[in-house]
Amino acid sequence: MKLPGFSLRPVARIAFGLVSLLLSLLICLDFVFNLLPDRFEHIRQSRQQVSEYLASQTASVLQTGDAMALHRTLRDALLRHRDLRAIAVRPANGDELVSAGDYNTHWHPPEDGSSTLDQIRVPILSGGVTWGEIQLAFRPALPETLLEWLLYPSVVALGIIAVTSYAAFYLYLRRVLEYLDPTKAIPDRVRTAFDTLGEGVLVLDKDSRVVLANKVFRGVHPDAGDSMIGRKIAELDWLVAGFHAHHVLPSYPWTKAMEQRVQIQGEPLEIISPDSDEPRRMILGCAPILDGRQRLRGCLVSFSDVTALHRINNQLLVTLSDLEASKEEIRRQNEDLHRLATRDPMTGCLNRRAFFEAADPLFDKLRASQGELCCVMSDIDHFKSFNDRYGHTVGDMVIKSVAKCLGSDLREVDLLCRYGGEEFCILLPGSTAEQAQDIAERLRAEIEAHAGSAIRDIPGIRITSSFGVASIAQGARDTAELIDQADNALYQSKKNGRNQVSIWAGERSVG
Ligand code: GH3
Ligand code: MG
Ligand code: MG
Repeated sequence: MKLPGFSLRPVARIAFGLVSLLLSLLICLDFVFNLLPDRFEHIRQSRQQVSEYLASQTASVLQTGDAMALHRTLRDALLRHRDLRAIAVRPANGDELVSAGDYNTHWHPPEDGSSTLDQIRVPILSGGVTWGEIQLAFRPALPETLLEWLLYPSVVALGIIAVTSYAAFYLYLRRVLEYLDPTKAIPDRVRTAFDTLGEGVLVLDKDSRVVLANKVFRGVHPDAGDSMIGRKIAELDWLVAGFHAHHVLPSYPWTKAMEQRVQIQGEPLEIISPDSDEPRRMILGCAPILDGRQRLRGCLVSFSDVTALHRINNQLLVTLSDLEASKEEIRRQNEDLHRLATRDPMTGCLNRRAFFEAADPLFDKLRASQGELCCVMSDIDHFKSFNDRYGHTVGDMVIKSVAKCLGSDLREVDLLCRYGGEEFCILLPGSTAEQAQDIAERLRAEIEAHAGSAIRDIPGIRITSSFGVASIAQGARDTAELIDQADNALYQSKKNGRNQVSIWAGERSVG
């Protein structure tokens, strides 16, 4: 994983530094503790042995005085020891006696006459005194070419250590650095700029790990501190729990924003904090972060706190609901007022004023259009006797019962009015005289059959009403005249023995 803003090069550089440190340490330890086997010491000893052996062999051959034998001995030595390049035997006076190999090329002894690892002198003794010396030029113990250096065992060992430790450091650092302090991936000036924002902001890397949380976001929840840096956002339970309240999630919006490389706006989120009873309501937006080469580097998640807005909205809803309730109450009271103003409180029928307000224009309209309109007048028979016999309370009950029967078989358009004490007037728009007569007859029968039985206090009480009918077609010029005509017909019903229907027929009504 690569942290945004934290390129691989610094990781590589740190790994390189550590490897250098390790190698320096190894070399120092080798100096102190001789960790690596001392190859030079081994070479030195073996060359010393060869040299001394040759010196003693030369001394023996010299005693024979056979120069050829000496030359052969030196040549054989050159052939036997591949490390050896040239040999010379010199007497003490400095003259060269015998040499083998390219002596002049390979013999470069130090000025002071001492031996080195590659140039060795060994004195030749004869009879207890130094006769001369044997000079041996060996192949240089140190590598001479780059390839030799590269194949030199210590260099190979150090190289292997360097490569493997570099790989190990590199992998380890890459894994560990993100946990150590991912906040360092964001420069301070960027962090300061984010802190000045009024919105909560989270910067995620492409694996949805939190890289930065600005000041506003850190104030959202007690756990929104530095401890969440480097953690995957989906592991922040307090954050994603509020998210689940709104969604059944196949994926989180930041995942979607990064996968589809689209901006996501308006995701609702509730954060419940132990500090507060009220959840903080947020609107969340996600925008993928792409680098110059359009490669995904992470995601910017913003949180707008709409808690106050939500609270005001809720208050408005409550106020609105209160207003609705008040409106309904006012409407109901208006209805009551209207009913009180237009209805008879005892029976619920229209009062006279409301009746005439509706009846007069209706009459005028139907008369002008030659439409049908009938008036039915009704009066309870021998009503006085109910009052007299059972009292006014029962009398009132009789009036109510009759009104109920009259209203039972009327249409919406019909007007039923309590015209006087126990008198009712009904207007039937659109009904002919015959239809009105039928209706009146039905009402009469209804009262006779049911009005009495509705009064439980007086079992067997018999209530009847008489009816008179008049039609607009009979020439009435206004409502009052039509009602008069119906009243005349009613009088006729009373006269004819009550509990019957009469229709106005000019001066003489007929039952
Ligand atoms: P008829 O058959 O000829 O109509 O005889 P009636 O007894 O019904 O005579 P009338 O129509 O003259 O009687 C009306 C009586 O109704 C007079 C009054 O005492 C009584 N009345 C009027 N309004 C009310 C009321 O609101 N309640 C009660 N209980 N009685 C009323
Ligand atoms: Mg009457
Ligand atoms: Mg009456």
